[in-house]
Amino acid sequence: HPAPATSNPTPTPAAQPNVFSLAGRVALITGGGTGIGFEIARCMVQAGATVVITGRREEVLKASTAELGVGGHYLVNDVCDLASLDGLVEELEATHGPLDILVNNAGINMKKPALEVTDEDFNRIIHTNLNAVFSLTRAAAKRMVARRSGTILMISSMAAYYGIDRVVAYAASKSAVEGMVKVLASEFSAHGVRVNAIAPGFIETEMSRTAMNSDPDRRDRAMRRTPMGTFGRPEDIGHAAVFLASDGARYITGVSLPVDGGNSIGF
Ligand code: NDP
Repeated sequence: HPAPATSNPTPTPAAQPNVFSLAGRVALITGGGTGIGFEIARCMVQAGATVVITGRREEVLKASTAELGVGGHYLVNDVCDLASLDGLVEELEATHGPLDILVNNAGINMKKPALEVTDEDFNRIIHTNLNAVFSLTRAAAKRMVARRSGTILMISSMAAYYGIDRVVAYAASKSAVEGMVKVLASEFSAHGVRVNAIAPGFIETEMSRTAMNSDPDRRDRAMRRTPMGTFGRPEDIGHAAVFLASDGARYITGVSLPVDGGNSIGF
């Protein structure tokens, strides 16, 4: 029989390696027991990585690790305990081998008019969202730089870019993280280590639900500012994280990728 006119006579090319695979990689995801961090963990496990999630609540981590299945592990850790962070990386590497991927995801927010924010409030947010990110990144990066291999991801926020009211400390912390990404990417580029951020828009999680519940108009305002007209899902951040951590992004460093349904087009 003659071949149908639509058939492609070119032989199938030999299979190429999947550049988006994380098989054999070891990842650490802070705050990986819930919300965005958990979905990053799930997507990375699906992509083949061994993933260690951290947080302060063991019962949450235990349940989430069970959901992750083979490839999921946890370590109880408070990122605010800066002196513990080098030991955290050491313990992880002793059990699972060299750390390939660090995701600085743990973060806190608080909605208050700026004039009501106390120094204690401000410092608590900066300590969690900024100081801890630097200390843990340094602990991971010194090992990655020595091995000339590794990638670091920050979970930032569009609050770093836009004047969203009543999040003064949070916005300051995320803007600072964005600045850190550029400097670290520049310093580590020659040492084979990439550093990038993801800036999520409005994503349905415990954190955003709490913020929405504290202000009934906020959901409508957020929707009006989102061209795609829906909130994002935590797994939308997970898929972007897998891409940026993978060899598919080997030539990408020092960027902040908005995953926000179009918020960053402009309000
Ligand atoms: P969640 O509140 O669901 O998750 C935050 C996680 O961080 C929890 O698992 C929490 O675990 C952990 N965490 C908080 N403080 C510490 C600490 N001191 N040490 C260790 N772990 C800690 O929030 P999201 O998933 O929404 O947020 C994740 C990240 O995404 C944050 O950095 C947030 O700023 C960012 N983001 C979220 C957006 C959204 O719309 N949801 C938008 C933009 C950015 P535990 O309490 O057990 O320690």
